[in-house]
Amino acid sequence: LIVLGIETSCDETAAAVIRNGTEILSNIVASQIESHKRFGGVVPELASRHHVEQITVVIEEALIKADVTFDDIDAIAVTEGPGLVGALLVGVNAAKAISFARNIPLVGVHHIAGHIYANRLMKEMAFPLLSLVVSGGHTELVLMKKHGEFEVIGETRDDAAGEAYDKVARTLNLPYPGGPHIDRLANEGTPTIDLPRAWLEEDSYDFSFSGLKSAVINTLHNAEQKGMSIDPKNMAASFQESVIDVLVTKTIKAAKEFNVKQVLLSGGVAANKGLRERLEKEFAKIDGIELLIPPLHLCTDNAAMIAAAGSILFEKGKRSEYSLNANPSLDIEHF
Ligand code: ATP
Ligand code: MG
Ligand code: FE
Repeated sequence: LIVLGIETSCDETAAAVIRNGTEILSNIVASQIESHKRFGGVVPELASRHHVEQITVVIEEALIKADVTFDDIDAIAVTEGPGLVGALLVGVNAAKAISFARNIPLVGVHHIAGHIYANRLMKEMAFPLLSLVVSGGHTELVLMKKHGEFEVIGETRDDAAGEAYDKVARTLNLPYPGGPHIDRLANEGTPTIDLPRAWLEEDSYDFSFSGLKSAVINTLHNAEQKGMSIDPKNMAASFQESVIDVLVTKTIKAAKEFNVKQVLLSGGVAANKGLRERLEKEFAKIDGIELLIPPLHLCTDNAAMIAAAGSILFEKGKRSEYSLNANPSLDIEHF
């Protein structure tokens, strides 16, 4: 089974070819970060225009690198949502055009399902499993009892983890995207600043990061007014510790409650060194639960993960019609 994956939900134009759901033949990512950097975030109109310019080149490169032609492709998996509507539309329409012209089955994929399936490119999944999804737009705990079925047991009530990282980075005058910069500074600093942890209700697996973000901004502002200076390294370390404490504690509690065999880290923030290290340390102490963490290039947006999720959905019989449309608020439990 050879699947072409296409991903254009945000600011990466990506195409990949994978074999039998797990073997990456090619994985091409054209990042637009340099274009959006000077605006301090992703500009939707600019993202769409870049996708239009890049999409055919990226797909062609994915085929060449994989040494296949459209005749070898059994299915096309494309991100249908969630994401920026104008960005998603470029990928969805490219996928539909190829599907129609070459008579290749089409499979719409949820972007976060893709992030979770990035793990299957490394190791086979064992159910039930729990995925901690931490990305630019999402922070959630997803329970899976079988392939292709996702149950959200907790999610953020305000900002996503990646969003909090990017906003805090901005107040520290770090370039966009700020996550990797905070991560680097945090490793050089000490968590000396007292910041809140949003545990929410005792039995809740939900998250909240906006209070933490405000606490960082207020602390910096108050210090500035008093003419005191705060070492950005220590602020980064304190912020990161607060985020990781909550993410890891809730993940462990849910993993035990639902008796899972595996815990999968997914999404762009899965690239965070501090988070990876803490999860590894904690799960090493827990018998019977295997921790999977994708390599860095499979954590951030790519099309191999979309092809991986698409392969499973295709095998389960899923086919999308030509009425397939971009859905910016697609629900992972029903797609
Ligand atoms: P979503 O997947 O929710 O639709 P997205 O696709 O925009 O959102 P991703 O590409 O999955 O998000 O992840 C990007 C996010 O990951 C950004 O917020 C970025 O700052 C964050 N990020 C990347 N590397 C790190 C890191 N090392 N530490 C913390 N955050 C990081
Ligand atoms: Mg991105
Ligand atoms: Fe993403």
